[in-house]
Amino acid sequence: MATMRSAVLVGPRDIRLEDVERPVVDRDTVIVQLESLGICGSNLHWWAGAPVEQGLMRFPLPGGGGHEYAGVVDEVGSDVTRVEPGDRVVVDFFESSSCGECAQCATGLFSQCERRRFLGLGGFTEYLKTTEKGLYPLPDNLETRTAAVVEPMACAVGGVRRADLRGGETVVVLGAGVLGLCAAGAAKALGAAKVVVTAKYDAQAALAPRFGADVVLRSGEPELVERIRAETGPHGADLVVETVGGHAPTLSQAIEVLRPGRSVVVLGLWDEPVPVDSWGAILKDARLIFSLTYGLTAKRHDFELCLEWMASGRVPAEELVTHLRPLAEIANAFELAADKSQGVIKVILNP
Ligand SMILES: [Zn+2]
Ligand SMILES: [Zn+2]
Repeated sequence: MATMRSAVLVGPRDIRLEDVERPVVDRDTVIVQLESLGICGSNLHWWAGAPVEQGLMRFPLPGGGGHEYAGVVDEVGSDVTRVEPGDRVVVDFFESSSCGECAQCATGLFSQCERRRFLGLGGFTEYLKTTEKGLYPLPDNLETRTAAVVEPMACAVGGVRRADLRGGETVVVLGAGVLGLCAAGAAKALGAAKVVVTAKYDAQAALAPRFGADVVLRSGEPELVERIRAETGPHGADLVVETVGGHAPTLSQAIEVLRPGRSVVVLGLWDEPVPVDSWGAILKDARLIFSLTYGLTAKRHDFELCLEWMASGRVPAEELVTHLRPLAEIANAFELAADKSQGVIKVILNP
């Protein structure tokens, strides 16, 4: 039996590597040798134990929850026609494991597939079994080792696309981590006239202009809502993208600075249920859009758009990868990713 290294989240703040069986290719599957594994904000919630308290997850978690993948096709089954060994790809694992036929798949919302196919262990691991669906080829000018950043970028891009920008809007993005900066970049690429970003950390604030931010405010500033309003003008923001979650007051702030009749897109993950100012929201005819992941919008997959924007330099998401670490250092890499005071924006593991 061939083995590989794979993570297991044993308990709070305790992630380790173990030897597990390496996946074997079937007729209609593909084995991807992973070269880029992103540590996601959601991973940090699980690592810190938050969804355990909410009953959403249990320890131990085999694979450790990793889901941001890029690598090289290693083996393909005899029925596979779309990829071949040696192809460099990023993986939409939701699409890859989707049935492709249910009502949710028909709308391109693969993350909500009603008949998901179990393909075996995923996560922080050396080899991943997928199908030929959900594999997106990397353009020649993008490196494999940082390419896992496409997955969180696609979360942000997918969320912004759900808000239907038409051009000329004023957009406020709360938070300037990977999601916030990619949302800002997406808003600008989709025609926003003015993008206002709030950033907590210096490294985030410094990068924000590269991602289309016209104005960068610091989230710790006193009277932040008034500062944002001064930038949006009296009507308020045409779109607010909330990317912070945790314990932040950003959902209320988003509704406060929103223009009546417009949308708030919520990308942040909350440590506990948060109160919403429902009067404030209804009196504004606010639209609240919660957006978990990516998929098809107008028949175009968010990954394709992300790769196009990265390859052209329009949204330089690879610049968000501040730290690369070997998979063997996963425990330290999680500690590093959790401590944003050290200039960390994105940590990626390289098996
Ligand atoms: Zn993620
Ligand atoms: Zn389905």
